[in-house]
Amino acid sequence: MLAAVAKWRDNVIKPEENEPFLNKGRDFINDSLIENLLAVNQHPDPVRIREIMAKALELNRLELDEAAVLLNCEDEELWEEMYRTGLQIKHKVYGRRIVTFAPLYVSNYCVNNCTYCGYRAENKHIHRTQLSKEELEAEIRALVNLGHKRLIMVYGEHPKSDVDYIAETIKVAYATKEGNGEIRRVNVNAAPLKIADYKVLRDVGIGTYQVFQETYHHHTYQQVHRSIKADYRWRLYSLHRAMEAGIDDVGIGALFGLYDWKFEVMGLLAHTIDLESKFGGVGPHTISFPRLQPAVNTPFAEQSPYLVDDSTFKKLVTVIRLCVPYTGMIITARERAEVRNEVVNVGCTQLDASSNIGVGTYSQKEVDYSKQQFILGDTRTLDETIRDLAEMGWITSFCTADYRCGRTGECFMGIAKKGKIHNLCMPNAILTFKEYLLDYASPETVRAGEPLIEKELQALPNPEVRRVVREMLDRIEAGERDLFL
Ligand code: SAM
Ligand code: SF4
Repeated sequence: MLAAVAKWRDNVIKPEENEPFLNKGRDFINDSLIENLLAVNQHPDPVRIREIMAKALELNRLELDEAAVLLNCEDEELWEEMYRTGLQIKHKVYGRRIVTFAPLYVSNYCVNNCTYCGYRAENKHIHRTQLSKEELEAEIRALVNLGHKRLIMVYGEHPKSDVDYIAETIKVAYATKEGNGEIRRVNVNAAPLKIADYKVLRDVGIGTYQVFQETYHHHTYQQVHRSIKADYRWRLYSLHRAMEAGIDDVGIGALFGLYDWKFEVMGLLAHTIDLESKFGGVGPHTISFPRLQPAVNTPFAEQSPYLVDDSTFKKLVTVIRLCVPYTGMIITARERAEVRNEVVNVGCTQLDASSNIGVGTYSQKEVDYSKQQFILGDTRTLDETIRDLAEMGWITSFCTADYRCGRTGECFMGIAKKGKIHNLCMPNAILTFKEYLLDYASPETVRAGEPLIEKELQALPNPEVRRVVREMLDRIEAGERDLFL
């Protein structure tokens, strides 16, 4: 490791901050326990599988042995039942809505050398760059003009994109307005931070902080990561530290394709269980399951022996839905449109659209592979995505109300676990969808979307809520914006 990077690492990594979270000096991923649970629960009894499905349908979080049973299911008819159960759970918790957002890559300088990532330091085929304030404003305007209200801002790990840079760029994102449009929630995907740095981001008002563990398997983790990211525990406890710092909503994830998919699903569940046990029942706000995609000059991404095919992908998404019924699940544009449509129907709750994953590429209106982290599978515009979803009966939500009303962390989980969050989600989805149709949609999308608004309005169970939403819709028609429950 270069001396300058080693110095930077010593300033970043504070192992003592993990210690309060360890269990007698050990972390919460017990590789042999997970392997053993997967081995002893092979060829599961259909009766047991159905009992576990019933437990999930009551919105109970599953235990590791129960997840192992589902993961080992060999009967395609039972898998079909699980897909249907995943969708039922989704309806029960969140209703017929999908939240949308856009990724915004802010800086692609990186000191790390993750074997699978186009942005790894050794990759000389990538054009390194970082947005200035003016460039960032241009990106935000381009996104706002598409209709986006929620962002995930993404940063490589580098002294040039330290916490102060991240905080400044978030402030610019919130401050940049265009016509009726503005960004109302900024989530972040960046490197693990120390507690003091998380507090800086809490104070600028971030939504969710996401860190993906990539692989929970200790040995594989060590093989694919070098430089700062080689510290498994610093990453594993990154979101414990974020919560300790007062960031209420955190997002976990595993990069599928690095190791055995069943092990990774068990890892995500173990992570959820540990967060819940240490933070009064509050687990991750979202779970992500990116799948390894080709990247410029990155052969590993296509050669890993653990790549996951489409049908296995649908299974793993379904098991995650059943394991943690009340948590948001994100399917990104890494996946092709057909795959996204499939997994929306087994329980995903959020997707990105019109995505560009190069630095500066929204305002330049060009796809430049030399600035991209990997290659995208779904290049539909936001308008096309929304229309396709509307034709499938899903209303697209731009809602940011929970975060702005303080319904985060414990408060959000309390409502979600009781299966009551949809009482707020559906009205807010209808209201923000209406804004989109008025301000940004093509005539075809308006034709697909308007009947859905009426249908979902009629389906709201509470007559008083229906009346209030109807009145708000009239106010939006008359020009008001940003109305929510
Ligand atoms: N540098 C930060 C970090 O590593 O935490 C930001 C993350 S990176 C820009 C966002 C995520 O992209 C990573 O956590 C990883 O899961 C995912 N990723 C990296 N290479 C990928 C690839 N070839 N295909 C799909 N996803 C990839
Ligand atoms: Fe850097 Fe993140 Fe890519 Fe690793 S995954 S090389 S840390 S940008």
